[in-house]
Amino acid sequence: MAQFPVILPGATIGVLGSGQLGRMFAIAARRMGYRVHTLSPDADTPTGQVADLEVVKDYDDLDAIVEFAKKVSVVTFEFENVPAATANAAAAHAPVRPSGLVLHTTQHRLREKTFLKSSGFPVTQFAHIRSEAELIDALKVIGCPAVLKTAGWGYDGKGQCLIHQASEAQSAYQAVCGSGKGLNGGTEAVLEAFVDFDCEVSVVAARGMNGDFSHFGVIANSHSHHILDVSVAPAPVSPCVAQEAVEIARGVLDKLDVVGVLCVEFFLTRDDRLLINELAPRPHNSGHLTFDACVTSQFEQQLRAICGLPLGATDLLRPAAMANLLGDLWAGGEPNWAAACAIPEVKLHLYGKLEARPGRKMGHLTALANDAATAEARVRAAREALTKRG
Ligand code: AMP
Repeated sequence: MAQFPVILPGATIGVLGSGQLGRMFAIAARRMGYRVHTLSPDADTPTGQVADLEVVKDYDDLDAIVEFAKKVSVVTFEFENVPAATANAAAAHAPVRPSGLVLHTTQHRLREKTFLKSSGFPVTQFAHIRSEAELIDALKVIGCPAVLKTAGWGYDGKGQCLIHQASEAQSAYQAVCGSGKGLNGGTEAVLEAFVDFDCEVSVVAARGMNGDFSHFGVIANSHSHHILDVSVAPAPVSPCVAQEAVEIARGVLDKLDVVGVLCVEFFLTRDDRLLINELAPRPHNSGHLTFDACVTSQFEQQLRAICGLPLGATDLLRPAAMANLLGDLWAGGEPNWAAACAIPEVKLHLYGKLEARPGRKMGHLTALANDAATAEARVRAAREALTKRG
């Protein structure tokens, strides 16, 4: 295997994307003495506010990408919908980790599911949909209920439609694929069998340049309106399920030859079968609790992996829970930060976003406790305290 030089503290890391993931990555990187440059189309961003340099350019401005890549020792991303051409342009001047190929596979649901299925990883039954006629045919095979999702660029449940019965095919196709008229004009979609799951869990894992693997165990996730709401670690699953989830994650990172962090999101069925829902080739919202609860956070682990440093210990120091803070919390005015901070063992993270819109991730709370259930109750109570006035 080729030997790559280790990128040592003092070097500059380039981050494509500028949201909260980049912000927490930059905080971890600066703590270890690295410099951070970020590039995205926006200014005064969550990442830009804590980076050494914020470049405001479009991802498809390849001249800007080249200039950006020339000034850094390694390029990573915090937003997987960076176009493949962008990753390729950067790769001509600096290593891109994880590689553009990992991005290419995971930024498109159909490619991702096809990769997973053909590699023997467990996924729910799915079909490629390019027209309303294909949807009607696929519903006959997959049955109802089923979920129709856009093939690319979807996140947090956007571009999805639950189909309860075959007669809803036309309206579902219109909702997800717009007015596309079939093979050439239509948007591609994926039809998935609906999974009547017991719970959703994730494994955040990292792989180094030498193939070393580390993981943060299994985290339980609950969603609200398709957006992650609360994560709890360790997840209340059997040791057997936990081990299987970690082994599947290890297999995925190996097969994709990931250098960096990747999160595998699973459905756990009522009969304890794990099905992969999706992959995120970067630190993940469900791993935010690692910042306060683990020896090494998912962000520091990403830094170590892409720099060629040894991976850090991932021990969970205390059971923990994380609750997202969405813009909706601001509906009645500024949340009562002091009330949440008054609860011992609760940590506040805010992302510096300038405008609180409904559904927008503005920050999160982490709570630590002696057991996971208490941590979850504590983080929910802390979030409720935010909207108690006076
Ligand atoms: P996604 O954006 O694909 O992660 O979907 C967002 C959420 O929608 C998931 O976390 C699930 O709660 C739900 N969901 C997505 N696909 C399915 C499915 N095939 N069966 C049941 N629930 C689903």
